[in-house]
Amino acid sequence: MRKLKIAAFMPHPDDTEILVGGTLLKYKAQGHDVHVVIAMDGRRGRGHLPDSVSWQEIVAIRHEEARRACAILGVEPIFLDIEDHRLLDDRDCYEKVIAAMECLNPDVVFTCAPNDYHNDHRCLSRLVLNSAWAPVFFAETSCGVDFNPDFYVDITEFIETKIEMARQHQSQFTEDPKETIEIVNRFRALQCRRKEIRYAECFKLYKRFEWVKAYELLPHDDYELPEKIVPTTERN
Ligand SMILES: [Zn+2]
Repeated sequence: MRKLKIAAFMPHPDDTEILVGGTLLKYKAQGHDVHVVIAMDGRRGRGHLPDSVSWQEIVAIRHEEARRACAILGVEPIFLDIEDHRLLDDRDCYEKVIAAMECLNPDVVFTCAPNDYHNDHRCLSRLVLNSAWAPVFFAETSCGVDFNPDFYVDITEFIETKIEMARQHQSQFTEDPKETIEIVNRFRALQCRRKEIRYAECFKLYKRFEWVKAYELLPHDDYELPEKIVPTTERN
């Protein structure tokens, strides 16, 4: 497989790790060129920080947490620093997204699902679609609500590192993110119906053109199809 340039355009600091962290780790392990773009400045993600902390300090904390998480991936994140909860499908936001897209010129793009729970997520999804020519995969919605995947990526080997990445966003979590990540990715793995797949992330492809073999753009696996497909009449 040729070396691909992968770009994850994610809204808030911490979305990358939760939604696509395992897949990015797998790309990286397979020698691909991985980039992370974080659209929002994170100022309204106060988490459990006290009221005395200013929004400027929150932005600085969230930048630092994102850098630490991405350092585990071996990547320096690109910050677009759009104000939290103020992402719009307008000229200013579009210029920032398309400037990053043109600078990176990726082969494959990941972003949020267009029906995700948060306006910043939905709006970024639209801006990314409007600025990307490369194939775009949508990561699953928060906790998988109303999301029916096209593709799964086995992240069993990377689950612990993914959790470690998420844990770097200490200001955001009152509880360890481990349980949520394990439940969601275990549930998706069960849908794969292969016992060696313990954890999986899943995606939908924006079917614009030349999408039939899109699975070849995802990290490679060596799984063989079963030698024999059991006829319907022999199944129980
Ligand atoms: Zn978010």
